[in-house]
Amino acid sequence: AAMLTPSQAGFRRLLPLLRPHLRQLLMGAICMVIYVLSFPLLVQLAGQLFPALGSRDLNQVLQLIGQGVLIFAVQKVAQFGQDSLLAGPALQVSQRLRRDLFSTLQTVELGALEKLSAGDLTYRLTEDADRVSEVLYKTIHDTVPSVLQLLVVLGTMLWLDWKLTLAILLLAPLIVWLISIFGARVMVATERSQKKVSELAGLLGEAIEGLPLVRAFAAEPWLQDRFEQEIDQHRRARHRTYSLIALQHPVVGIIEVVGLFAVLALGAARIQTGDLDIAGLSSYLTGLIVLIDPIAHVTNNFNEFQQGQASLRRLRQIEREPQEPADPLDAVPLGTLRGDLALEGVSFGYDPSQPVLQKLDLQVQAGEVLALVGPSGAGKSTLFSLLLRFNTVQNGRILLDGCDLSRLRARELRRQVALVPQRTTVFSGTIAEAIRFGRQASDAEVIEAAHLANADAFIRSLPDGYATQLEERGTNVSGGQLQRIAIARAVLGNPALLLLDEATSALDAEAEAAVQLGLRQAMAGRTVLVIAHRLATVQEADQIVVLEKGSIVDRGSHDSLMQRGGRYRELCERQFIRDLQNG
Ligand code: ADP
Repeated sequence: AAMLTPSQAGFRRLLPLLRPHLRQLLMGAICMVIYVLSFPLLVQLAGQLFPALGSRDLNQVLQLIGQGVLIFAVQKVAQFGQDSLLAGPALQVSQRLRRDLFSTLQTVELGALEKLSAGDLTYRLTEDADRVSEVLYKTIHDTVPSVLQLLVVLGTMLWLDWKLTLAILLLAPLIVWLISIFGARVMVATERSQKKVSELAGLLGEAIEGLPLVRAFAAEPWLQDRFEQEIDQHRRARHRTYSLIALQHPVVGIIEVVGLFAVLALGAARIQTGDLDIAGLSSYLTGLIVLIDPIAHVTNNFNEFQQGQASLRRLRQIEREPQEPADPLDAVPLGTLRGDLALEGVSFGYDPSQPVLQKLDLQVQAGEVLALVGPSGAGKSTLFSLLLRFNTVQNGRILLDGCDLSRLRARELRRQVALVPQRTTVFSGTIAEAIRFGRQASDAEVIEAAHLANADAFIRSLPDGYATQLEERGTNVSGGQLQRIAIARAVLGNPALLLLDEATSALDAEAEAAVQLGLRQAMAGRTVLVIAHRLATVQEADQIVVLEKGSIVDRGSHDSLMQRGGRYRELCERQFIRDLQNG
C-alpha cells in the first residue's frame, strides 16, 4: 500500500478542480447509490428464485422473474444517469488542466522554452491530457461504483453467512497485493512507453521541418533508420505494459475460480451441518458471481489509473520549468514614451559566470537610429532580449525615458518595444489578423500600419485583400512581402522603441527596395536599434556601435569610423563587399 501513496497524491491535486461541478456530481452520486443498491436486491431475489425453480410453481417463478426484470431496468437507468452525469465534470477537469498548463507554458522563461521539444510538448498536451481525463472519468463513473458494489455485496454475504465470507476474505489480501504489485510495474512501464511516444513526436517534428534538407543530402535512409530505431524502442516499451497486463488477468482469474470452487465445497459442507440452506447458498453464490465483475473492473481501472498517473506526472513536469520573473509589486505605470534609451554599465550572461555582455554604456536620444554591428556571437541579439526583458540584467541598469526597465510591467513594456525579427513567422490566419496579432486595433489602424510598412498596396492587390489567408509560417506570400507584414505588425500600436534585426537573406533588388522603403517609413520618429547587415543601414544611422565579445570596441558615425580606420572599417570591408560592389 505504501507504493500507492505518491500516485494517489497526483490525482488528489485534481480534486479541487471538481468543486465547481458539485451539483452534477451529487446527482450522479444519487444514481450511483441506486445502481449499487440494486445488487443486494438481486442477490436476495436469487435466493428465492433458485429454490422456486424446483418447486414446480410456475406462477411464483414468473413473478420472481418479473421482479428481476424490474430491478434490472431500474439498475440500467441508474447506470445511464450515473455515466452521463459524471462524464461532464471529468472532461471539464481535463480541459481546465490543459488550459492551466498552456498558460503556464506561455510564461516559461524563453531560455528554458528553447530547450523543450515542440513535438514532445504537443504530445503531452494532447495525448497525455486525454489519458488523464479518461482515467478521471473511469475513476468516478466506474471504479467508485465498483468499489461500492464490492462493499455492499460483501456486506450482504457477511449477513448471509459470515463464517464462510470470512474464510473467503482470507484470499482478499492476496488479490490486493497482486493488483498493487502489477499496478506499480504497469505505471513504470507506461511512463517509459509514453516517453518513447513523446520522443517519437519530437523526432517527427524535427523530421518534417528538415525533410527538404534530408532529401537534398539524400539522407533518407539515415532518417528512416533513426525513425525505425525509435518506433522499435516504443514497441518494446509498449509490449512490456501489455505483457504485464496479459499476465495479470489469468493470475487474478485463477484466484477467482479457486475461490468459487472453495465456496462450493465449503457451502456443501455447511449445508451438511445444517448451517446453511439451499436458498442461502443460492443467494451466496449469486453474490459471489456478482463480485467477479467489480473485481475485474477495479483491477483494470487500477492499471489505467497507474497509466494516467504516468501521464499526469509528465504533464506536471511542465510546471517545473523556470518561469519568467514576476513583475515588481511596486511597478511604475508606463505613460506615453518619448523613447530616450540609456544603458549604464550593463552586464549579463546566460550563465552568470560567463558574461556575454560586459559593462555596456549607451545613450540613444529619442528618434535616433543606432546601428549595432559585430561578428556573430558578439551579443547583439542578447542585447535585444534584455530590452524586451526576456532576460534580466545582472549588473547596471537599462533606462527608458529615465525609468529603470526592471521597475516596469513586462507586458506593458513590450507594447512599447516592437521587434522585427530576422526571420518572420506568422500564425495561420488572415493578413489583418497577422498584423493585429491579438491587439485591439481598428481596421483603419491596421491599414495605416500596413501603409507605413509599404505593404498596403500589395495587400490590396491580393484577391481577398486584408482578408487573405496566410498559410502556416506565411509560405504563400513572398519573402519580401512577409517582411513587410512583419514591419506593419511591429509599428501597429505606435511603439516608441523599434528593435530591428535586419534580414541577411538576399532579396531581389526590387523586393529589397520595397522592404527598405517600408523600414525607412516605419523608423521615422522612433528610437531604433538595428542589428545591421546592410551598408545603407549603417550609413544612415546616427550612431554606430561595434560590439565584439560583449564589449563595445568602436563607436561613432560611419564617416568618422571609416576615417579612423579601426575595427569598423575592417568589418565594413569584409562584410559589405557585396553592397559596395552593387554600388
Ligand atoms: P549575436 O546576436 O551578436 O550573434 P548573441 O547575442 O546571439 O550574438 O550571442 C552572444 C553569446 O551568447 C554567444 O556566445 C551565444 O552562444 C550565447 N547565447 C545566445 N543565446 C543564448 C542562450 N539562450 N543561452 C545560452 N547562451 C546563449
